[in-house]
Amino acid sequence: MAKLYFRYGAMGSSKTANAIMVQYNYQERGQNALMLKPRLDNRDGERVVGSRSGLSASCRFVEELDEIDLSVYDCLIVDEAQFLTKAQVQRLVDIVDGMDIPVICYGLRADFMGNLFEGSHWLMAWADSIEEIKTVCWCGRKAIMNARVSGGRVVKSGEQIVLGGNESYVALCRRHWAEGKLSPLEIRRIVAGKEAYLPLLLEADPSEGMIDRYLEAGELYALLADGQTVGVGVIAAREDGAMEVKNLAIAEDLRGRGYGRKLLEHLVKLCAGRCEALYVGTSPANVPFYEKLGFKKAYVEKGFFTHNYDAPILEDGQVLTDDD
Ligand SMILES: [Zn+2]
Repeated sequence: MAKLYFRYGAMGSSKTANAIMVQYNYQERGQNALMLKPRLDNRDGERVVGSRSGLSASCRFVEELDEIDLSVYDCLIVDEAQFLTKAQVQRLVDIVDGMDIPVICYGLRADFMGNLFEGSHWLMAWADSIEEIKTVCWCGRKAIMNARVSGGRVVKSGEQIVLGGNESYVALCRRHWAEGKLSPLEIRRIVAGKEAYLPLLLEADPSEGMIDRYLEAGELYALLADGQTVGVGVIAAREDGAMEVKNLAIAEDLRGRGYGRKLLEHLVKLCAGRCEALYVGTSPANVPFYEKLGFKKAYVEKGFFTHNYDAPILEDGQVLTDDD
């Protein structure tokens, strides 16, 4: 007999990545698995599910179920299942029991205020199988709450669903959610939505064209202090097998607090496990910063700043050339 599954987890517990893997496993066995998600508003949103890890897959809307011939599917997978209505969960139950097709739902259990979502409520009540996908708080405890972060602060009131807002969400343990305490200092790899960090990246490298060239292939890391991005760094592999720090930027008003050092030390550690040498190309004013952390002068790339940048770059009132 087919079953209705509810696999829940806090933000960042790889639910969507899991959903995509399950669909892939069905396809590998020569079977069809239909990916679905609820449509959040009346606009015709994108028919795509995407995860923070960068994986994505096309999908249909749950609202379109009546137009789809379900008899060709061996399984239905529902992402963002917390947004289902009671009637939609009932419809999924009918598919499981009436058509003997398994339905696997992935979603959050509770909203940012700690209340059950409608979809999660009815899935908790009716699913044959309820499984938790675990993730951890910055303190190492299991994260079960989803904090809404706005302007670097945990907010506890507002609309349950905000479309197109500037809020972000982070998984916290219950204690830190209750205290509204975000990680004092945390480094995260950014895979999806790299372009949002462009303003910060431009503070260390004024050429958007140069950034474009290394951002896609490079690894972008963000340093967060109390939930707010205070700095970013990009590392990339060189053709000779060494690694290079392509960008290291700390927000202008937050410099001088050791953030740059923290981030660079982390990047050095990451690279140490993967290559023999780590390079950084920088301007004269920043050389002492890198030397303090153990970097040695390797070479001067003649005319680097004049060849690679359309406009002259001023530093301490001098035009950068690297001609001498
Ligand atoms: Zn915690």
